[in-house]
Amino acid sequence: VYSHLMETQKLQELKQLLESPKKIVIIPHRNPDGDAMGSTLALSLYLNLKGHTSRVVAPNGYPDFLSWLPHNDSLFLFDSHNRQSKEAIEAADLVFTLDFNHLSRVGSDMQNTLENCGKTFVMIDHHQQPDTYAKFTYSDTTMSSTCEMVYHFIDMLGDANLITKEIATCLYTGIMTDTGSFRFKSTTAATHKVAAQLIAAGAENQIIHQNIYDTYTPSRLKLLGIALKNMVVLEEFNTAYISLSQEELDTNNFQKGDTEGFVNYCLTLLNIKLAAIFIEKTSDNIVKMSLRSKGDFSVNDMARTHFEGGGHTNAAGGKSDLSLKDTIAKFISILPDYKAELTA
Ligand code: 5GP
Ligand code: MN
Repeated sequence: VYSHLMETQKLQELKQLLESPKKIVIIPHRNPDGDAMGSTLALSLYLNLKGHTSRVVAPNGYPDFLSWLPHNDSLFLFDSHNRQSKEAIEAADLVFTLDFNHLSRVGSDMQNTLENCGKTFVMIDHHQQPDTYAKFTYSDTTMSSTCEMVYHFIDMLGDANLITKEIATCLYTGIMTDTGSFRFKSTTAATHKVAAQLIAAGAENQIIHQNIYDTYTPSRLKLLGIALKNMVVLEEFNTAYISLSQEELDTNNFQKGDTEGFVNYCLTLLNIKLAAIFIEKTSDNIVKMSLRSKGDFSVNDMARTHFEGGGHTNAAGGKSDLSLKDTIAKFISILPDYKAELTA
C-alpha cells in the first residue's frame, strides 16, 4: 500500500525477531521535539503491548509542553539518569533510534555509548542522508514525520488494529507538530488518512492541539514580543531573521522550548522565502539557529554547508561558535550566493 517500505526481506527478519519477547531501548534525538517524543513513546507503548520490555531513553530533557504525553513518566534521560540509561542499553536485545539520521544527533556522550554497545540497531527516520549504522533501516524522506512512519511500521507488522488511545495520542502529536498543524508541503493525502485513523482510535485532536500550543507562560509571550521587535527583513534576499541574546532570554525567565515556533513568524511576511532565528547560548559558547524556507529552497543544504547542521528541505537547524553578532554577519555574508534561488 505505502511506498518506500522497509525492504520486505528485512521486514520479515525483524518481524521474526519480534516474535519472542525482547528487551528494547528506544532513543529520540537530543532536545527531543514533539515528533521525537511522540514516536518513541508510541513505539514503546506498542512494543510493551506485544509482550516486550521496552523503555525510551532520551539524551536529555524535553519542553514542558510535551510533559503531558502518555507514558513519558517511564523514560530515562541519559544526562540525568546516566547509570540507569547505560544499564538499560547494556541489557537491551535491540536498540531503536527514531527521528534522527546520524548517531551524532544524540550528543557526544551518548553517541560514544551507542557506538561501543555492539547492539543491533533499528532506524526509523524521515531525515535526508541517513547513516548506515542500523541493521534494519526504515528511512523515507517523503514522510511528514517519524510518527507517521511508526503508524506505517505498526501497520506493516499487521497490528494497526492494536493502536490504543494512548498510542494514537502520541502519534497524532508528532504528526501535528512536524507538519505545522497539517500545513507544510510534507503533509500528504496519506498523512491525513493516518491522522483520521488516529482520531478514530481515540486521539482527541482539539485537546492535543491545546496541550501543545495554548500553554504559554506570560514571560514566553513577552519573549515572543522581543523576538518580533528584533526581527530584521532583508528584502533584497526575500529573507527575514530574528535574534535573541542570552540577556534577553535571562530577563524573560527563559525555559526550554520557549522559542519553539518563533522562527515561523518570519514566514508570515509576504514574499519571504527564507527565515532564521539565532539564539545565543552562553552555557555552551554557541549560537543555536533554526532555518525555515518556502518552496524548493533547501535550508538543509545551507545548514550543512555553513552551520554544522542539517534537517529537511524546509526546516533545518545548526550552530555556530562565533558570537551572536558575528554569526548573523556570517549569515548575511552568504546570502548573495543564494540570491538567484531566493529571488527566482
Ligand atoms: P529545529 O529548528 O526545529 O530545532 O529543527 C528543525 C529540523 O532540523 C529538525 O528536523 C531537526 O532534527 C533538524 N536539526 C535541528 N538542529 C540540527 C543540528 O544541529 N544538526 C542536524 N543535523 N539537524 C538539526
Ligand atoms: Mn521529525
